[in-house]
Amino acid sequence: MLVDSHCHLDYLERRGENIAAVLQRAKAVGVECFLDVATTLVGEPKLREYCATYPGVFRSVGVHPNHATEEPDVCTEELIALSDQPKVIALGECGIDYFREHTTPEIQKKVFRTHLEAAQVTDLPLIIHTRNADEDTIAVMQEVYREKPFRGVFHCYTGSEAILAAAQEMDFYISVTGILTYGKSQELRERVAGIAPSRLMVETDAPFLAPKPHRGKQCEPYMVRHTADMLGELLDLNAVELAEQTTTNFFRLFKRAKLEITS
Ligand SMILES: [Zn+2]
Repeated sequence: MLVDSHCHLDYLERRGENIAAVLQRAKAVGVECFLDVATTLVGEPKLREYCATYPGVFRSVGVHPNHATEEPDVCTEELIALSDQPKVIALGECGIDYFREHTTPEIQKKVFRTHLEAAQVTDLPLIIHTRNADEDTIAVMQEVYREKPFRGVFHCYTGSEAILAAAQEMDFYISVTGILTYGKSQELRERVAGIAPSRLMVETDAPFLAPKPHRGKQCEPYMVRHTADMLGELLDLNAVELAEQTTTNFFRLFKRAKLEITS
C-alpha cells in the first residue's frame, strides 16, 4: 500500500473532478491512504465532509502562507479546537512563501508561529511549506522549537541543503513530490539518495506537480506511484520495500491516523 501524504482534494473537486472517482483510481493502483491538506480555515467543512465520507482519507487543519492574508487573525486556541475532531492528524500546511508574496512577511510569520504553538500544545505533527524562504522559515521554527520541541514534515522537498540540516536538527521528515521525476532534478535526486529511508515520504501535492510521465496534466493521488518508483530507484528499494518503508514512516509521524479496512 502507498500513502499520498499530501494532496488537496477540494482543489480537484473545484476543477471538476468527482472525488469518489479520484479515490477509486488511486485505490486501483494500491494508493489507499490520503492526507488531505488544509490551506484555509474557511475550507474546513469540505475536508471534514471528505473524511466523513471516504475511508482512508485523513486531514489537517491550518492556513497556507499564501492565504494568510485572508485569515490573518487565526489564533492558537482556534487551531487547537478545530484539530480536536475525528481524522484530523496534522496541522498545516503552514510556513513562509516569498515566491508568491500574497501576504506580508510579518503576517506570514505571525500565522506560522500560531501553528507551531498549536503543535506544541497538541503534539500534532506540522506540515511545513517553504518557498524562497528557507532562512526565515528555519529561524522562526528554531526560535519556537527551543521553548518546546514539535514534530513534522517538510513537504515538497526541492533539494535545499539548509532544509535538510534543519530536518536533521529538529528530527523532521522530508516528503518528495513529482518534481523528483523531472529531467532537470538531477541535483535533487542526488541529495534525496543520501537521506535516511526512515525519514522519507511521498506525496503528490495534487492537483499540482504531476510526475513524469503525466507532467503537464492535472495531478491526482494515483500518480504518487511514479514518484515512489523514482524514490525506490534512488534508495535501491524495490516497489514493495519502498511502499512499506514510506507507509511505516507516515504512520510513525502521523500517530493519530488509524486506517480502517477499506476493501
Ligand atoms: Zn500543498
